[in-house]
Amino acid sequence: MKNKKGIIEVICGPMFSGKTEELIRRLKRSIIAKNRVVVFKPKIDKRYSENLVVSHNNNSIESIAIENENDIIKLSKDINIIGIDEIQFFSENILDVCINLANQGKRVIISGLDKDYKGIPFGIMPQLMCEAELVTKLTAICNQCGDYASFTKRTSDNNDQVLLGETDIYEANCRPCFYKN
Ligand code: ADP
Ligand code: MG
Repeated sequence: MKNKKGIIEVICGPMFSGKTEELIRRLKRSIIAKNRVVVFKPKIDKRYSENLVVSHNNNSIESIAIENENDIIKLSKDINIIGIDEIQFFSENILDVCINLANQGKRVIISGLDKDYKGIPFGIMPQLMCEAELVTKLTAICNQCGDYASFTKRTSDNNDQVLLGETDIYEANCRPCFYKN
């Protein structure tokens, strides 16, 4: 089944909110519908596997690790549905790449952190959310109090914006738990 009109869908939220799970769900349904699907992720994200996008509940889908954003366009020539995980780790060129793909009539489903560990918008995410036709903002469960969580707190004292890690150095927080010192 071919999409006649292109679309950009953003899946965002804090760590552990099910962004990757939701991305994989949409992509696997697209495969069942006999679309031509490809999944990309940034090369720096090697936490689980080089060639898989893996969610924290261990669902996975084959993916291609990308160093240069423009390669996504080359590798999507005969594809009509494109998934990209951890989009916040790409440079700002990724915005033009997504627009280019959607304007070719492709469905572009992207997933990423809307905020960094300080609660500040992450990289090009605000522009991507603005450009998108559909934005899904997910919540995790606050690891402090069990409420809905929209923030990612770093539990180690490193100050780099990009620091790859899991539950060892990050937890999901609700607003009060995130802002209490
Ligand atoms: P994301 O891509 O947003 O980091 P994933 O899709 O990889 O999230 O993983 C979501 C899964 O993470 C949930 O289904 C759940 O099993 C697990 N999980 C671990 N910690 C939490 C948490 N604090 N809140 C919600 N889910 C969590
Ligand atoms: Mg994820």
